[in-house]
Amino acid sequence: MENDTIEIVNESKISGILERTKDPSFEEVKRVLKKAREKKGLSVEEVGVLVNMKGEENMKELFRVASLIKNEIYGERLVFFAPLYVSDYCVNDCAYCNFHSSNKTAHRTRLSLEEVKKQVEVLINMGHKRVLLEFGEDPKQADIDYVIDVIKAIYSVKTQKGNIRRINVNIAATTVENYRKLQAAHIGTYQLFQETYHRGTYKKLHKGPKADYDRQITAQDRALEAGIDDRGLGVLFGLYDWKFEIIALISHAEYLEKSGGVGPHTISVPRLCEAPTVKYTPEYPVSDDDFMKLVAIIRLAVPYTGMIISTRESAELRNKLFKIGISQTSAASVTTTGGYGKKTATAQFETHDKRSVEEVISDAVDNNILPSFCTACYRMGRTGENFMGIAKPGEIHDFCRPNGIITFAEYLEDFAPLELKEKGYRVIYHFLGLIDDERLKKKTSEHLEQVKKGKRDLFF
Ligand code: SAM
Ligand code: SF4
Repeated sequence: MENDTIEIVNESKISGILERTKDPSFEEVKRVLKKAREKKGLSVEEVGVLVNMKGEENMKELFRVASLIKNEIYGERLVFFAPLYVSDYCVNDCAYCNFHSSNKTAHRTRLSLEEVKKQVEVLINMGHKRVLLEFGEDPKQADIDYVIDVIKAIYSVKTQKGNIRRINVNIAATTVENYRKLQAAHIGTYQLFQETYHRGTYKKLHKGPKADYDRQITAQDRALEAGIDDRGLGVLFGLYDWKFEIIALISHAEYLEKSGGVGPHTISVPRLCEAPTVKYTPEYPVSDDDFMKLVAIIRLAVPYTGMIISTRESAELRNKLFKIGISQTSAASVTTTGGYGKKTATAQFETHDKRSVEEVISDAVDNNILPSFCTACYRMGRTGENFMGIAKPGEIHDFCRPNGIITFAEYLEDFAPLELKEKGYRVIYHFLGLIDDERLKKKTSEHLEQVKKGKRDLFF
């Protein structure tokens, strides 16, 4: 199997890159940062230069370029979602996770479809339109048919305050046949984190079916074979040297593009958090400064891949990260199964941003960010290669800004108190004014008026 996966991540190649680039010259860093401005991405060797660069001037320039790219490609928008924990039964014993099988004190829960629907009602009432489903791996308690029933149950919930319009899914690596079922159930993105790309560390930290490194790293190939072309990658930072992980992650992204014709739709950057029964302490803790740096490097290396931050990070850090590369965020997340609106016992890990959706949105607006609840792309068939075909020449702006405006107006009408509504509309009209195409501006403006009159779910 080593040979099959060698093209995805080749450890000796990565060590060679880290060695060759360990002390990059000022000129070399300058050249790479200049190339990044072309928004065509970076080679793994160039990523090596950035992970190894030092010095305040270089860092300033890195963040400046990252925020320019973020603005040019994703503009002012920040897309919101919420994780939904459905079942925490798990046959794996991942060293870092509170759902690990050696946690014998956990009160395990698997939601009934009625309980799922109740959770969804709570999420809708918070303003959410997108969820990310989370399951522990357990072929008996949470088999694929149960996962599919959960997805159908969620899409079936329609309330006066709206509905969930996009379901992203984070389930354990599985078979092509099971991915076909997910695809047929109209999921958005399939996310699966490699956790660590370093084989030795991976082996040390996992027990159970997930301990199979090759099953994990080839999962996205099977997902694509099943027709899922919006795929999300991620690393759990803290398990191994972040410099190695970033080069490996970008190698994986390159591999997906080369082998399947389409790169990752998203990259998530979870960083290890404390968890009640977890004794494991991160062997390679990542400081806030390095975390900022790695987010900026990913932004430069794969400019057209959305980047996701969760409430594992503090409000203060998240606000900085939104500026340098993050395009999607969760808000007011609960990491216990069935824990929205009620207290439940077993959390997967502790979150560090406890703000309500309203507070996160209010802060975003103060920073001149346009919160977006858009779910239009996959509903319009703009996925995979088709999505990249629009995103790369920059045409995605034509859809995203208007859709962000319309969905944020829905949020303001249905959920916001007066003060937030007033400042929210100020941001909306500011960005409406920036739409260049006069016809599109007019159409967006008409949609906006319709939303104010009670019409919902309009999109381009
Ligand atoms: N059980 C599936 C799996 O492991 O792929 C589904 C996802 S699990 C609920 C979501 C992710 O949470 C994991 O992939 C892991 O990266 C992350 N995670 C686990 N323990 C964590 C911790 N202590 N701190 C931060 N993130 C953690
Ligand atoms: Fe189970 Fe996923 Fe937690 Fe591992 S990370 S113990 S697979 S829920």
